[in-house]
Amino acid sequence: MTPIEKLLADNKAWAANVKTGDPEYFERLARLQTPEFLWIGCSDSRVPADKITGTQPGEIFVHRNVANLVIHTDVNLLSVLDFAVKHLKVRHVIVCGHYGCGGIKAAMTNHDYGYVLNMWLRNIKDVYRIYEKELSAIDDMEARADRLTELNVKEQVMHLAKTSIIQRAWSKEQRPRLHGWVYGLKDGLIKPVFHMDAGSRLDPIYEYDDL
Ligand SMILES: [Zn+2]
Repeated sequence: MTPIEKLLADNKAWAANVKTGDPEYFERLARLQTPEFLWIGCSDSRVPADKITGTQPGEIFVHRNVANLVIHTDVNLLSVLDFAVKHLKVRHVIVCGHYGCGGIKAAMTNHDYGYVLNMWLRNIKDVYRIYEKELSAIDDMEARADRLTELNVKEQVMHLAKTSIIQRAWSKEQRPRLHGWVYGLKDGLIKPVFHMDAGSRLDPIYEYDDL
């Protein structure tokens, strides 16, 4: 059996197993999804949103990209955010990074990763520049990468708050709460590092006054 054939065979076995335990499961899920959470995480295969939070299909709406970045020209991410906030009416948006992130480590080097990855990683270098003083005081490179991972999550949460999508939901419906988390590959634990409640203040230049 090839690896692809194995995936499909395992899927068949999984579906049969779920149906045995709960015959209505798929029909119920197919009718609607009402997730309370939007998850913006890293594409890293070791950080599956549902597994590490013990949630089931239907509970978390998920977007993943390299190093869990919120970039204001990323139509893919903004479409997911708009749909989750406006239509699914999620109560929480979580940006979850992880220690040992390859994207974070790559951004800390001066290596040329080619045009596209350079462009993506430059967003992390921008975070590094903002916190350069704090980061360069950490001698141990792994500890420095860990701290950049935390600061990156914080900056991405603040990027969410700068969007009119979030600010409109905050002013009209006092939701969603924004969370910045970091997952530990070594112990499987999530560390909350930052949050913003609905209505949190931003640097005034980012606040819309006519939503
Ligand atoms: Zn990663």
